[in-house]
Amino acid sequence: MIRITDILDRVAENNPEADLDIIDRAYIFSARVHDGQIRLSGEPYLSHPLEVAGILAEMNLDPVSIASGLLHDVVEDTHATPEEIEQTFGREVMRIVAGVTKISKLSFGSSLARQAESLRKMLLAMADDIRVILIKLADRLHNMRTLSFHKEGKRRVIARETLDIYAPIAARLGIYWIKNELENTSFMYLMPEEYTRIKTNVSKDLEEREQYIEDVKGYLRGTMETHKLECQVLGRYKNFYSIYQKMISQELAFEDVYDIIAFRIILESIPQCYEALGIVHSLWKPIDIKFKDYIARPKPNMYQSLHTTVIGPRGERVEIQIRTLEMDRVAKSGIAAHWRYKEGASMDESIGRRFAWIQNLVENQENFRNPDEFLENVRIDLYPDEVYVFTPQGDVKTMPKGATPVDFAYMIHTEVGNQCTGAKVNGRIVSLNHELETGDTVDIITSKSHRPSKDWLKFVKTVKARSRIRQWIKVQEKSRSLSLGREMCEKAFRKHRLNFNTLMKSDQMDAAVAHFGFKTVDDLIASVGYGKTTPLQVVRRFVPKTAEEAEDKPRETIFDRLIGRVKKRKPSAGVLVKGLDDILIRFGKCCQPVPGDPIVGYITRGYGVTVHRANCVNALKMSPERQIEVAWAEETSETYPVKILIVSYDRVGLLADIATSISKNEANILSLNTHTKPNKSVESYLTLAVAGTGHLDRVVSSLRKISMVQEVRRLNT
Ligand code: MN
Repeated sequence: MIRITDILDRVAENNPEADLDIIDRAYIFSARVHDGQIRLSGEPYLSHPLEVAGILAEMNLDPVSIASGLLHDVVEDTHATPEEIEQTFGREVMRIVAGVTKISKLSFGSSLARQAESLRKMLLAMADDIRVILIKLADRLHNMRTLSFHKEGKRRVIARETLDIYAPIAARLGIYWIKNELENTSFMYLMPEEYTRIKTNVSKDLEEREQYIEDVKGYLRGTMETHKLECQVLGRYKNFYSIYQKMISQELAFEDVYDIIAFRIILESIPQCYEALGIVHSLWKPIDIKFKDYIARPKPNMYQSLHTTVIGPRGERVEIQIRTLEMDRVAKSGIAAHWRYKEGASMDESIGRRFAWIQNLVENQENFRNPDEFLENVRIDLYPDEVYVFTPQGDVKTMPKGATPVDFAYMIHTEVGNQCTGAKVNGRIVSLNHELETGDTVDIITSKSHRPSKDWLKFVKTVKARSRIRQWIKVQEKSRSLSLGREMCEKAFRKHRLNFNTLMKSDQMDAAVAHFGFKTVDDLIASVGYGKTTPLQVVRRFVPKTAEEAEDKPRETIFDRLIGRVKKRKPSAGVLVKGLDDILIRFGKCCQPVPGDPIVGYITRGYGVTVHRANCVNALKMSPERQIEVAWAEETSETYPVKILIVSYDRVGLLADIATSISKNEANILSLNTHTKPNKSVESYLTLAVAGTGHLDRVVSSLRKISMVQEVRRLNT
């Protein structure tokens, strides 16, 4: 067990002027209130807050953080109150301890909704004071170190949560040693077999490998010395989990994962780093694509280093990191190394900017109603793959890997995003889904009349772009269904000699709105526009029932039920209509869509929804107000009719060959018509039943292989 004096020594060593008194007092307080409590390991409870404080000291944190670490469990596990903490240690410590306590109560268990909610609260706590999450990380690290004392089931739950939530946060904050240890320990508990296999493999040729590490280290150090560069050289195994991930993602056997050992050269100054890099590259051939200069362009978590991968002395790939002592220190404490907390003062502005991603998530979270969406976005933001691109003015923007000009445009301003029509990267016009790379200069082309497209959602990578596009679409859909719904209501009311617009503000309308369970008249009208409520249902709230209608009723319900049954058996013919599960679907005869075709739906009064291919000329003529979002269901056993034309020269056995080819490809012929022209060319018009565009393509390409066939194509395009 670490002793309080070790912690005090460590803090004093980092900062001789540090106020150790508050740490001393926190230790005495914690020892008093935890007195008599025992950990599952059998150790006195106090060992836990002490170890946590030790980890925080290792990260070079300030005395307030370390005192808070000593006190982090007292509110939850002892009779001590937040008021008491505030009186004894001040408001700052109280707020941090309260924050840690709040996070401890979050559950990231199985339910997606709960997980999203918990993450949201955690991000809020981080945005409030980043030290809360640093203490939580130290707490989790010690709990992982002592996880073996828990029961099997509990171990797995904690390890999973650590791997999914805490390790990525540690990485995002730049505290890689904590990230590595958390990953490795979680991996050991979650996949014991795979863990052991890698461990055994690593230790198999241990002696030889250790010798190799020593050789490389010695050689590097010696070469640096002849160039009068004083340095430390370290060699270490990469963490088992990252070796495992590499094996999985690149489908490699253990023997084929070369860079399981990484070397680090630590020097005094930045110029020395570049000099050392030059020396390394003159010794061993670098793999160009593997060179990264995080000194000139630090990661957003402020990590700085040169990374290069070279072909080493035995023809193997060797990863080498080169950095200054100061940079190495930063890599140890991550983001925490950069700020000096003054009494009551918040983070300085440059640090604040580094935390923009947390702020962004917190701001945007209201736009995510469903937990899936939120989690998806948090994941995107938690993983540290990033690119750095420039505005034409030379400002750097940090984007997630795979980000596009649309992401970039939204990052500049929502309006720029909404009006973005194109982009130039390094002076060249690119498509909007072009993947940006580090170093690119991006110039966005806008046009006032341009509008966002739903298709952008397929490729944008940032939370901001995604949420702004979704928001825009939601507003559009609402206003479209509002105008459609209003038109439908007006018509239905007119039929009953009622004026919808004058009735809008009546008490009767308020009652109708409440009857359907809505808050406002607009919600009701929009619901009519979406097709969820029929205009007739609305009118009924305003006309007294006649005797005839009352009599009609039972017959109507039987009819309704019948329709319902028919619809249930074949609810949507393989098409999903946004917001509706049970609606009549027809397919446009003009264009005969089959699964795989891009499609659009149009509300046709009295018929439900008619589905056309997106490029159908008839569909293009319809009023955009009636358009509704539709998509093919993922799995469907339906087949769909489609017309094709085969042009060929006449010959014996041609039709038989065509029929065989079609049935071999498991399609059916619904109808067939042939015309023989005077020049002996034959045009055969067929209607086939196919499952989708993929199926159709197979049929068509097999038909094209038939001898004498000149042309095969789908009609109605
Ligand atoms: Mn704890």
